[in-house]
Amino acid sequence: MRDALYSLEDWVRFGDELRRPLLVGPNLSTSTKLCIVGAGLSGLSIAYRIASKRPDVEIEILERTDRCGGTIETWSEGEWLCDVAVNAARPHPAFWRLVEDLGLGDAFAESNPQAKKRWLLINKKKTQLSWITALKMGPIRLFRSLRSSTVGKKSVAQVFPSETIADAMTLGIVNERSANVDADFLMPSLTKFGDEPPIKWSKIKKMMAETYPLFQPRKGSVASFSGGMQTLVDALVQQLNTFENVKFHFNQDLSKPEEVATEHHVPISSVIWCAPRDRTNQEFTSLDVYVAGYHNNAVSEVRRGYGTLIPDEDIPISGILHESDVHPSPRAPANHRLFRIMAPSSRSSSEEAVRTCLKQILTHSEPVIFQKIGTRKIPIYAPGYMSNLDINKEFTRAGWFFSGVSVTHVIAEAERIADLF
Ligand SMILES: Cc1cc2nc3c(=O)[nH]c(=O)nc-3n(C[C@H](O)[C@H](O)[C@H](O)COP(=O)(O)OP(=O)(O)OC[C@H]3O[C@@H](n4cnc5c(N)ncnc54)[C@H](O)[C@@H]3O)c2cc1C
Repeated sequence: MRDALYSLEDWVRFGDELRRPLLVGPNLSTSTKLCIVGAGLSGLSIAYRIASKRPDVEIEILERTDRCGGTIETWSEGEWLCDVAVNAARPHPAFWRLVEDLGLGDAFAESNPQAKKRWLLINKKKTQLSWITALKMGPIRLFRSLRSSTVGKKSVAQVFPSETIADAMTLGIVNERSANVDADFLMPSLTKFGDEPPIKWSKIKKMMAETYPLFQPRKGSVASFSGGMQTLVDALVQQLNTFENVKFHFNQDLSKPEEVATEHHVPISSVIWCAPRDRTNQEFTSLDVYVAGYHNNAVSEVRRGYGTLIPDEDIPISGILHESDVHPSPRAPANHRLFRIMAPSSRSSSEEAVRTCLKQILTHSEPVIFQKIGTRKIPIYAPGYMSNLDINKEFTRAGWFFSGVSVTHVIAEAERIADLF
């Protein structure tokens, strides 16, 4: 593992991503050949960062399926366009750096400022979500919970003042109730997990803000690609295919790093595992993703915004995202709006139940398009997860199955790993 203390320069490059441990096996940086398992965003961006820097290192990318991107996939039909999973990136300079390095600046833009509002649907009533909502739960409770949040190994429910808001948030991010989610994993800055910055965090944030290439994002905004997240995957694959030192292998059936090392004649320390491992099916939740598109007239009563989170388990839907409101590029034909619907498998939501529910909570009108566009499995990160990470591995581990849920995390991690070379 890398030295625990980072320089100010590191903090400015990576911010609180540095609170997450980098799970690097010994001697990784002396490898002359690397085997990267998994061609999701993590495996692809690690390969891209190392291959760009070290043309002398051979890189084999080993993927179980016949496609790249893993969780990421963009669905389209005619002028309708929607990401099945990741639809946008939260601001982080590492993500912006990758977009710039891949020459994707023209296809990448900030979310629509008119679509910032998020709502919670509780007891059939919509409430706007904000820190004020949390404060309404009681300032003393908020203060107490934030103070207790630094004790460690707690669930998000334990550190957050309102369990309802915490549930809505964790359901929206990891499809799981807040009592079952590790606070150190989801919000390491709040719980003060890992290393502390050498100067005040607020100063570091200001310094980071000056390092964004392309454009400096507004507070609370997200950013996306005009052609959906698949744009990023396609650009990474295209670049990797131009490198002579990188080879892709698809339809690989691998279960252990030892097996990879033997088959590809590398020491185990040259294996970078960016796929699930040591996880049973019980350590995942899953959800179905639908799109529903309407003529503007049918949804004129639905306010423009980011979307609505629905913690109530009796409702088949946990979230409705206003895709065509949020993104700066069109996601629907003219005079239409597109919504993405999350239906957790734990709520046993059939297609019919989702359709009926939309009529009750979004609009009585029939959608002009309604489709299930995918199902995704999401790793569970139970309380204590970060504190109990096994950091003494002979091989390197990366990606969201292991160390962090957001794409900004995955991209920052790739740069941190490549820095070692
Ligand atoms: C519905 C949903 C919405 C999301 N929205 C956002 C968002 O808006 N913003 C955000 O920042 N993040 C979001 N995320 C999280 C984001 O998708 C992940 O952080 C990121 O895509 C993870 O990339 P990865 O490469 O680590 O994993 P994956 O994308 O899962 O890739 C893993 C790869 O490994 C392969 N593989 C698996 N097992 C093996 C094996 N044994 N051998 C070889 N290959 C194997 C898989 O086929 C896959 O290609 C969302 C996730 C979901 C499910």
